[in-house]
Order: sequence, then structure tokens, then C-alpha cells
Amino acid sequence: MINVIRSPATHLKEVPTLKRPLTVLKGIGPKRAQLLGRRGLHTLIDLLFFLPIRYEDRRRISPISETRHDVPALVRGMVISGGEERAFPGRRGLFRIIIQDETAPLELLWFNYRKAHLDGYTTKGQTLTAYGRIRLNRGKRQIIHPDITLVGDAREQVFLGYFPVYPAIKGISGQVLRSLISQTLAQGQEANMEILPEETIRRLGLPRLGEALGNVHFPPDGVSIDLLNQFKTKEHRRLTFDHFFYVMINIVMRKMFSRERTGPVVSVPKDLEDRLLNYFPFSLTRDQLRTIREIAGDLAIGRSMNRLLQGDVGCGKTVVAAVTSHMVIHNNWQVAIMVPTQVLAQQHFAYFSSLPRSMGFRPVILTGRLKWSDRLKRYEKIRNGEYNLIIGTQALIQEGLSFARLGLVVIDEQHRFGVRQRSLLDKKGENPHLLVMTATPIPRTLAMTVFADLDISVIKEYPKGHRPVETFLADATQKRKVFNTLYQRLSKGEQGMVICPVIEGSEEEDLKNVVEMHERLTKLFEPRFRVGLIHGRLSTDQKDRVMEEFRGGRIDLLVGTTVIEVGVHAPGATMMVIEHPERFGLSQLHQLRGRVGRGSRRGLCVLMVSEDSSHESLSRVKVLADSNDGFEIAERDLEMRGQGELMGTRQAGAGELDLGAVFREPELLTAAKEEAQCILESDPKLALPENHRLRKLISTRSIFPTD
Ligand code: ADP
Ligand code: MG
Repeated sequence: MINVIRSPATHLKEVPTLKRPLTVLKGIGPKRAQLLGRRGLHTLIDLLFFLPIRYEDRRRISPISETRHDVPALVRGMVISGGEERAFPGRRGLFRIIIQDETAPLELLWFNYRKAHLDGYTTKGQTLTAYGRIRLNRGKRQIIHPDITLVGDAREQVFLGYFPVYPAIKGISGQVLRSLISQTLAQGQEANMEILPEETIRRLGLPRLGEALGNVHFPPDGVSIDLLNQFKTKEHRRLTFDHFFYVMINIVMRKMFSRERTGPVVSVPKDLEDRLLNYFPFSLTRDQLRTIREIAGDLAIGRSMNRLLQGDVGCGKTVVAAVTSHMVIHNNWQVAIMVPTQVLAQQHFAYFSSLPRSMGFRPVILTGRLKWSDRLKRYEKIRNGEYNLIIGTQALIQEGLSFARLGLVVIDEQHRFGVRQRSLLDKKGENPHLLVMTATPIPRTLAMTVFADLDISVIKEYPKGHRPVETFLADATQKRKVFNTLYQRLSKGEQGMVICPVIEGSEEEDLKNVVEMHERLTKLFEPRFRVGLIHGRLSTDQKDRVMEEFRGGRIDLLVGTTVIEVGVHAPGATMMVIEHPERFGLSQLHQLRGRVGRGSRRGLCVLMVSEDSSHESLSRVKVLADSNDGFEIAERDLEMRGQGELMGTRQAGAGELDLGAVFREPELLTAAKEEAQCILESDPKLALPENHRLRKLISTRSIFPTD
């Protein structure tokens, strides 16, 4: 699971002691500061909110003979022997220390190590404490790359008890990080930090911020390890509440503002619904038509529309966006369509360019690859109104571009939730209508809170001819059969995808698995078919190129991570294999499988479950095989509290909600909204941006995110 809590941290930037750079800490010189900076850690506050991703239970020492294969254990024993071993001169060696307690011996092994460091632990008769996952290797117990300490060492303090594990930072060991955080916490306690109004803390019975941060970084022995690892201790919940509260303040405030905002008046042609028959080669579904009527109602009354269009993958949201754009452009306004990726921008540009001229579109695309001079030319033609439909990624459209008459902004495939994009629009100083589209099915109750500042339209009906993706569970024994099916599909000229999870905290290992899977499939399928690879470590350009090749059919089989998820479809893709589905959230799996079977052939999705999956996680994943209704699946996800590890929107930044946290703690979200409402409604003047009291209460940056 991912735990990103950033907005409250921005508030603490007002506290002078915590604003200081990390170099004030013992043990940090310019070099380490630079390494930490690369990870976005610059000040003491940043470090305070850099939270553990999981906890190890190192409270009890086990007799070595009672440790079990593949289970982590804390053991203590006397050193029997120790030293480096090399099979051949010049080859890489290994380092082995053997310890023993009253019950059994244990081998500690290292393949990557600093010899000088480990040499310090080899003196016979010393007592070592070691933690790690036990392996039974031909009857011998081993730990590979254990964490060790000498009994009586000052380090034991942090080594024992609950042990926090942080996201890896290149060049900074966990040990160094923990020491830095404990120094920072001490400084924080002195600063007596708090960011919530006193009344809120009392009313909800929340722990104070200093205490919460202290216990989340270094939990006391009494709490349950399960609560810790689910981020459900009262201290974790306090931090989650803060995160929600800051986003909710923004959302409630936008709702209060938007009541009074005047927007472009757009008159709707009387014969619109007849015209649609000429514009599209099919008739619109009832849900599409209803949505269009709801939108037309908003556009006509002279207030800015703020509407969310929620609809499962493939239900035809783009058509609704096209009709809405047509209405706005028909009234001589411009439309901007913002999408998360360049490939999606290209896909939309091609689509809108293909629509009949009579719809009135003069589309242009803005991509990062444009030469500067070309981009300036396009900017100019947007400024003077020659182009009336501007399609691009969010970054491009926001960046210094001005419009002649911007009447509507469409945000497509919004999968980062919160108020950030919407707040950025406010700064444009105009009040264009806003249509946000998302395929993330959030249960209605939650949507009303998450999108409190938006009116919601839902499309439930699929276009005629839509066939749901067939979904099966398979285990390792069926792998061969699965790959055979894949081979057959590719032989027919169809395309396939294989998705592997990458989770924060085990990125290195996970990424290795993706690359290995790619190698394996390349061996199996090339040269007859071309196998591509895509993951988050590639540059945006590289990713776009791979996606384009896949869309264009030049790659037959694409192996990758969830970066494939975002809105793009390859019409030829008909089969998807998902590795370790139990590590994903259900809604995310549903979105993923929606990427296949969008052409004429029905899609097939195989969920490759591990043999050692628990009964619970199997029955959870099975929901996918049984249902094709994104909303129903989201409801189930909510019931099960979004247990998939990947549920979170990893990059929740200032003004954005971590969707994982939303599914985990729906009640806290409601409480946060109520608190925000209570504060703002008790004194509506607080909601004015120029009001200093609110600025004091909550940080300027988190209310009006600018970064
Ligand atoms: P999404 O909601 O996932 O963005 P799209 O807008 O991309 O879905 O639509 C999916 C496919 O369905 C497209 O190929 C589109 O042309 C087609 N489509 C949309 N509406 C209809 C309809 N009313 N009848 C038939 N096909 C439709
Ligand atoms: Mg779409």
C-alpha cells in the first residue's frame, strides 16, 4: 500500500525550525543532501512526512530451531565462524557468518557486501542479533542479506521492536534514514507542531500531530502489527484525516464559490438531437442522450458548469465530449481538452479530426515534441481564435497559453482525484465550463464527497454490440495453456498484453520481474512476433513510442506495468494476462482489462493467481470473473476496504486524494468533509481567498496549490 500525505506538510512550512534544510541534521553533508533532494526531501518537514511503507515485527527473539521456511524471524546467537569465501580467484565472493543458539545453528549469507563492514562481526564468541526471512536449504537454515547488530551495540535501540521500512532512496541506507528521522522528530516535538483547528481535534478525539508522527515512524510495542501494516492505527488515521481535510477544504470552498460564478452562455440548437444522426454513424445510447441534455441545461443558464461524467471504460464518453464541444464551438467559444498522456492526446486528435466538418471543429494538438517555433505558431493561432479545439496534455495546456475565448475545458481520464487540476483552471481568470470525465467507478456515496463541488452524470449503458471482457482465473499449472492461447491469438493477427505489478517498496524486485517476463516471452514468441516492454522507468518519450508502436500494430505482445492503464486503446488487442492480480485493487483490475477487446473481437483476460494465495485474496479476485459492472466491482472494493496493495494513486500530491486511503477510510473522508463544511459555513468570509484568517488556519499553498 502507498501512503502519501503531502498537503498538511506544506502547512508546516510556516514553522521556522522545520523549514530548515536537512543539512542541519547530524550526518548530512552536501552529498547526502543531494541524494535526499533527488527524492524530493529538502527540509525537515519533508522528512517528517516521509512515512514508512511497512513495519517489521522485531519484538520477540525466536529459538533458531523454531523458525520456519519463508517466514521472517528475529534470532540471537553466538558467532561460530565468519569470513569471505571465493569459489575461484577473481570471481565475486560471498560472505558467510555462522551463529548458533542453544537450539540450532544458522547461516548468515551476503552476496553484495562491504567486506570491511562485515569483518567487524566475525569475532568468535560474540553474540549477534539477526533479522530476516529464513530459508531452509537442504536441511540448513539460512538468512540471505540479514540485518544484523552486535548485542550491546547502541543501534539495538532501533533494531529491536517495531521496525519501520521506508521507500528505498538511492545511496542512503535505511539505518541512516531512521537516524535522521529520529533527530527530526525531536526537533518537531520542540516546535510543538499542530495544523488542525483545536476544536476539530477535540471533537474527533484525534491524537496530536507530533504524537501521531512520532508513533507512525517509531511505533510503541503495544499496537498490533496488522493495524500498523494496514495504516489503521489511530496515529495513521490522524494523518489520513489531515490529508482528507486539506483536500476537502478546497473542494467545499470551490463549491461555495461556484454558486456565484457566471459562465459563458451557450445556446443549444433546437434540432441538436436530429443533427446527431448526421454526425455519428450510430444512434446514441439513452444514457448518452440524457447526459447531453443535463449538460445542455448547465450550459444555457449563464453559470459555469462543473460536471463530472462517470462511465465505465467503453461506454462512450468521448462522444458526449464531442457533442458538448460542438455546442460550445457553435456559440463561437473555444474548447480545451486535457488528457494525461501524449498518446491519448494523439488518439483524441485523430478522432476529432475525423468527425464531420459540419460539427465546426478546427482542432490542433499540442505535444511536448513540437519544435519551439511550431509551438509558438500554434499558440498564436489559438490566441487569435483560428483554432477552436485545443487538445493536449495538462502540462502543455496550462503552461503560459492564452485563449481568444475559452468556453469549455474537458478533462479526460481523470484518474488523479482531488481538486488540483480544477484549482489550476481558476487561475486562468476566466470561468469556462468544466467537464471532467473518469472511468474510475467510485461508489455513489463516495463520489458525492470526493466530487462535492461537481454535479455528477453517470453513463451505465454500453453501446450496442459491446461485449464484456471474458475473465478467468488460472494458476501456475495452467500457464502453458495460457501462453498457448496467447500464441494462437497472435497467430491470427491479434495483439496481447501481459501486466505485472510494481509496488512501492519493492520496485527493484518487481521491475526485475517485469524485465524477466519480457525476456521469457521474447524467447517464446520472437522472431515470429514482436514483443515490447513498457514500464515507469522509461522516459515519457520512450513510453509514448512503445504505446504508439503497439497501437499501430508493430508490437504484437506488450509486457508492462500499469502505465498501460491510462485511457489508450489498441483496437487489435484482444487478450490480457495479469500476473499477481491479488496485488491490485479490484477497480484497477477492471480498468486494466477494459484495455482489450475494444475492436471487433471479444476480449479475454486471464488472472494468473499464485499457488500460495490466501482464500480471501482468491475470492476477492474472483469478483472480477463474476461481474463486469464497474460500479458493482467498486462497491465490493469498498466493502473489502480496497485491500489490493496497489489501490493508491501513487502520486497524490498537494490537493489530490490518495484513492487507496479513500477506500480504506471512507468514514474519515466524510468526517473531513463535515469538518471542512462546518468551519467554512460558520464564517463564510473564511472562504474568500484574500482572507488572512483562513490563510493562517490552513496553509496558502495547500488551498491554492500552485506547484
Ligand atoms: P470511453 O467511455 O471509454 O472513453 P469511447 O468514447 O472511447 O469510450 O467509446 C468506445 C467505443 O464505442 C468507440 O469506438 C466509440 O466510437 C463507440 N461508441 C460510442 N458511442 C456509441 C454508440 N452510441 N453506439 C455505438 N458505438 C458507440
Ligand atoms: Mg475515453
